[in-house]
Amino acid sequence: MSSVNLDYDAIVVGAGVGGIYAMKRLNDLGMRGTVLERDPDLGGTWYNNRYPGCRFDSESYTYGYTFDRELMNEWHWKERFSGQQENLKYLQFVAKKYDLRKHMQFNCSVESMHFNEDDNYWQVNTAGGRQISARFVILALGLLCTPTLPKFKGMADFNGESFHTFDWPHEPVDLAGKRVGVVGTGATGIQVISEIADKVDSLTVFQRRPNWSAPLNNSEISLEEMADIRSRWDEIIDICSRTPGSFLHQVDQRRFWEVAEEDRIELWDRLYDEPGFGIWLANFPEIFTDEKANAEFSEYIANRIRSRVDDPLLAEKLIPQDHGFGIQRLPLETNYYEVYNRDNVTLVDVTETPIANVTPAGIQTSAREHQLDIIVYATGFNAIVGAYDKIDIRGVGGQSLKDNWADGPSTFLGMLVHGFPNLIMPSGPQSGSASTNYPRAIQNGVDWCTSLLEHSRKISAVRLEPTLKAQNKWTQHVIDMYSVMLMRKAKSWFTGYNSNVEGHEYGKTHYLVYNAGTPRYLEATRAVSENNYEGIGFR
Ligand code: NAP
Repeated sequence: MSSVNLDYDAIVVGAGVGGIYAMKRLNDLGMRGTVLERDPDLGGTWYNNRYPGCRFDSESYTYGYTFDRELMNEWHWKERFSGQQENLKYLQFVAKKYDLRKHMQFNCSVESMHFNEDDNYWQVNTAGGRQISARFVILALGLLCTPTLPKFKGMADFNGESFHTFDWPHEPVDLAGKRVGVVGTGATGIQVISEIADKVDSLTVFQRRPNWSAPLNNSEISLEEMADIRSRWDEIIDICSRTPGSFLHQVDQRRFWEVAEEDRIELWDRLYDEPGFGIWLANFPEIFTDEKANAEFSEYIANRIRSRVDDPLLAEKLIPQDHGFGIQRLPLETNYYEVYNRDNVTLVDVTETPIANVTPAGIQTSAREHQLDIIVYATGFNAIVGAYDKIDIRGVGGQSLKDNWADGPSTFLGMLVHGFPNLIMPSGPQSGSASTNYPRAIQNGVDWCTSLLEHSRKISAVRLEPTLKAQNKWTQHVIDMYSVMLMRKAKSWFTGYNSNVEGHEYGKTHYLVYNAGTPRYLEATRAVSENNYEGIGFR
C-alpha cells in the first residue's frame, strides 16, 4: 500500500448535474473530496447556456434528481419544460441543501493530469499552476460543453457582436431594433430562433440542413398539479427506470405494419399535440429501425410542417431530405415553423448560396451580403469526447487519452478506461447517458462509480483498472447496438459528426453512445458489480 500523502481521496472535475451529485455521494461515503470547476460558479450546462429560449425538453420533474424525495417535496417545478434560469436555481438549491459549495473550487480549470504509477494516484494540474493529488479522479464532464465554431473567413473582423450560443453573454443582450443572423438549425438554433424572432428588427437564419422538429407543448405546473406529481412520484421514477430513454414516454407496443394506416395516423395526431418526446419515443419502435416505416412517418411530419408554413417553397426548404424523422436527436419547438411566416424573418439556404465569408458588416454568401448587427453561432459541440480532449490526460506509461481516442473512444461500460487506472467517468463516452434523459443516467452512473470506490476501499485496493479484454468486449457491444439502428447513418453528434472538427467528418463514425437503453445498461452494470466487479482488476 502506498504511503504518499494525498490532498484528497477523490477529485471531481466539473460542478454540473453529475459533479454536484458525485460530491454529495463522496460526502455520504466519508471520502475526502473536492470539485474543480472551470466556471465561476456551479451549474455546468445550465450555467453556460444562457441563450434566449434555452429550456429542458425532458419533463422537468423527471430531469431533477431522484436520490432524495425531500428534493421533490421542497421544489416546485413551475413549468413542464423548465427554462435555463430556473434550472440553474434548482442546482443552486440542491448544492445549498447538502452544503456542497464548501467542497467546490471555482475558476479552477484542469489543464492536465498524470497518473503516478509508483504510488497509484492522479496528479491534477490546474490553469493557475496548482498541483492537486488524489487517489481517484471522477470526470463529471458535460456531454455537450465544448462549443465548436465554423471556420468562416473574416469572423474576427465582424464589427458587431458575435458569439456561440454556449457563450451567450451574461449581461443582457439588447436585441430590440437589431439585425440578427443565426447560423445553425439544430436543437439550440431552433430554440433561439423561435424565441427572438418577435424581439428583433430582422432575423436571418443561415440553414445548411433542416432538422425534423415537433411541438414541445409546454405549460405551467400549478401548485395542485405539483402536489399530484409528488403523490405519483414513486410511479414516475419507476416508469423512467423501465423505459429505454428514461423518460415517461413508453413505446407503443403494437407492430407498425399490423396497425391500420388510419389508426397509425390517429396515434400520431394525438402524440403531435401532447407534451414532450412522445412523438419520438411513444411511437412505434419501427420508426427507429425500418426505413419504410420511418419514411411514412416522416411524410406525416412533413405534411404538418407544410400546414404551418404559408409559403409552400419555404416549407419544402424546412423539410429534411437527407434523413428521416428522429434519426438525429429530435429538437422540440415552440412556434418554430410559424416564425417563417413573419415579414422580418428570412431563411438563407446555404447549400444553394454558400457562406463565402464574414465581413465587417455581416455575412457574405455567394448571392449577396446580409448586413447584421449580431451573429449568433448555434453551431453545436464537439460532443462527449470534446471535454476529455481538452485535458491532457496521461495514464500508464505516459499514454495520452486524446491520442488513444483519436479514431473514437473505447471504454468499459462508458465509465472506465484500460491504461488509465483510478479514472472514473460516470457519464463517459459509451455510457448510458447520452441517448437518454441525461440526469437519470448520470445519477445511475454516479451511484455505480461511487459504489465501486466504496468496494475498493472495503478491499483496501489503491488501484483499479478494467482489463483490455473487458473493454474491447464492451466497445464491440456498443458498436453492435449501432448496427440495428437507422441512427447509425446520422450526420449528427450521435455518430461523432462535426464538420468543424478535424477527424469528425461524416463517415468516420465514432461510437459515442450506448443505444440499447436504460434497462439494458443498468442490467449490464449490475451484472459487473454483482459478479465481484468482473472485468476490473484491483491492487
Ligand atoms: P447541433 O445539433 O450539432 O446543430 C448544429 C447546427 O449548426 C446544425 O444545423 C449544423 O448544420 C449547423 N452548422 C454547424 N457548422 C456549420 C457551418 N460551418 N455552416 C453552416 N451551418 C453549420 O447543435 P445544437 O443545436 O447545439 O444541439 C446539440 C445538442 O444539444 C442537441 O442535439 C441536444 O442533445 C442538446 N440540446 C438540448 C436542448 C434541450 O434539452 N432542450 C436544447 C439545445 C440543445 P448541419 O446539420 O448541416 O451540420
